[in-house]
Amino acid sequence: MGSKSSDLFYSQRMNMVEEQIIKRGVISPKVVQAFLDVPRHHFVPSDINKMAYEDSPIPIGLDQTISQPYIVALMTEYLGIKKNQKVLEVGTGSGYQTAILNQLSKNVYSVEIREEFSRKVQALFTQMDIKGVQFKIGDGSLGWKEKAPFDRIIATAAPKKVPEELLRQLAPSGKMIIPLGGNFQNLFLFEKNSKNELTQKLLLPVVFVPMVQGQIYTG
Ligand code: SAH
Repeated sequence: MGSKSSDLFYSQRMNMVEEQIIKRGVISPKVVQAFLDVPRHHFVPSDINKMAYEDSPIPIGLDQTISQPYIVALMTEYLGIKKNQKVLEVGTGSGYQTAILNQLSKNVYSVEIREEFSRKVQALFTQMDIKGVQFKIGDGSLGWKEKAPFDRIIATAAPKKVPEELLRQLAPSGKMIIPLGGNFQNLFLFEKNSKNELTQKLLLPVVFVPMVQGQIYTG
């Protein structure tokens, strides 16, 4: 992906990783490497790609946003993904988080309710020669039953309460990170032990777009 010498954005990306990610405590080498390798500027609208490495979320259209780099990094770090683990992402959005997950696992499944986003990301991945991710257009609060169970689940849109179906599709020893709430949201980590017993941890207050349920947006 994007050779260093031909990538004019590389120094901005190194700076983002240094200042926004490592200095704030996300340090596992594979996660750091993924953020160095994925060219974030390809995942934001081209007219504002100069903003790609800023320390904030950015609008990607349809009232949605690409998450702040640090939040993407923190969520990824909490999941502790291993190469052979099956990962479900709810909310493909810009595809940036998807591309990061793809650096860490060979088995990434990404569900998006807004058809336009999913199609755009699928075309972008083909163009960038990113292989191995399976996409679905649909309501990700229902998970992806045919492909379950998942070792890791990440949601980047916030439902009011945790979708039961996602908990059901989480494998034993699995981890799920998800923002929950309405106007005030918190990021939660759900963990199952090997006996399938569930615990939950509140991590920090966050702001995500709401998880919409039921209807598919075909725009
Ligand atoms: N990780 C993405 C976040 C995009 S914003 C990024 O950094 O670009 C959240 C995304 O979740 C939006 O694309 C929105 O359309 C999608 N979304 C909202 N509700 C959803 C649902 N029920 N199922 C799947 N995707 C959903």
